[in-house]
Amino acid sequence: MTIAVLPDSPATAPQMIDPLDHLADKLFHRMGADGVYARTALYEGVVDKLAALITGHREAGTEVMRFPPVMSRAQLEKSGYLKSFPNLLGCVCGLHGTEREINAAVSRFDAGGDWTSSLSPADLVLSPAACYPVYPIAASRGQLPKGGLRFDVAADCFRREPSKHLDRLQSFRMREYVCIGTPDDVADFRERWMVRAQKIATDLGLTFRVDYASDPFFGRVGQMKAVSQKQQQLKFELLIPLRSEEQPTACMSFNYHREHFGTTWGIQDAHGEPAHTGCVAFGMDRLAVAMFHTHGTDLSAWPAKVRDVLGLQPLVAADAHVEGWR
Ligand code: ATP
Ligand code: ZN
Ligand code: MG
Repeated sequence: MTIAVLPDSPATAPQMIDPLDHLADKLFHRMGADGVYARTALYEGVVDKLAALITGHREAGTEVMRFPPVMSRAQLEKSGYLKSFPNLLGCVCGLHGTEREINAAVSRFDAGGDWTSSLSPADLVLSPAACYPVYPIAASRGQLPKGGLRFDVAADCFRREPSKHLDRLQSFRMREYVCIGTPDDVADFRERWMVRAQKIATDLGLTFRVDYASDPFFGRVGQMKAVSQKQQQLKFELLIPLRSEEQPTACMSFNYHREHFGTTWGIQDAHGEPAHTGCVAFGMDRLAVAMFHTHGTDLSAWPAKVRDVLGLQPLVAADAHVEGWR
């Protein structure tokens, strides 16, 4: 991040300028909250193309599921989310009282007061990642077949981490491939996807590196969890230097949960052992921002190879010559 003092206004405080800020006007409309944006057609077109590209790499025998942006609070609690990231969770609340109580809350608001003190939690939370709902669904199917199960899931996700940075949203899209099986099934799956994902990033003309990572576990105990996660190499990230080399942005992650979800949901692998699970997550919004940051906001100026891999329309003949369109 660089700090710039606006030259024409010496009296104003220094303004923080982020290297991604120049994209904001072309990609988003503000909606009154940091990290929650309406998306332009330009932006959304690229998100769609990226999604189609990822679909094109789907392995045979992968079952597709699309999840809503909310999920069962009880299921997320059982998954252990509150032990790791309680600070990021968004919970659905409602006015659940009697007609009198609800009217009283609305009247308080009408009189300029606070209605939210009458809210109470519903049985729903905002999904913080796309894969949580798939494990109980898989568990309901009984013992795993040989080779395990693979899923293609996606959801609009929420994490309470407001930021002015365009690569850290509160509401963002996550696409995941998930494997549930034996330790070997999951290890092979993750290996395959780490290779495939780097090919995707290369095809997209992105600069990246893959590195061990840890989740931002909450609090001091969380820091110990993070160290152990790194030591066990449970998480890798595909990092793109959007803002700087030192603080690159994780645009994909490759996660091995060991037997956590298998034990939690009582999923048995083909040998009768607790299933192991892993997932590869694509941050769709981060990938799209990375594309615009790397190649600019004029799609016609994107490298021909990148346009080709995304299935963007070939340019008209005259431009195609200049662009070297095949
Ligand atoms: P970070 O370290 O940047 O907070 P994370 O470890 O929390 O990322 P994961 O939990 O692995 O990320 O989520 C999977 C993917 O979802 C990430 O690789 C990223 O691309 C995307 N993602 C996560 N948090 C956000 C966010 N706040 N805004 C946009 N995309 C996000
Ligand atoms: Zn996942
Ligand atoms: Mg995070």
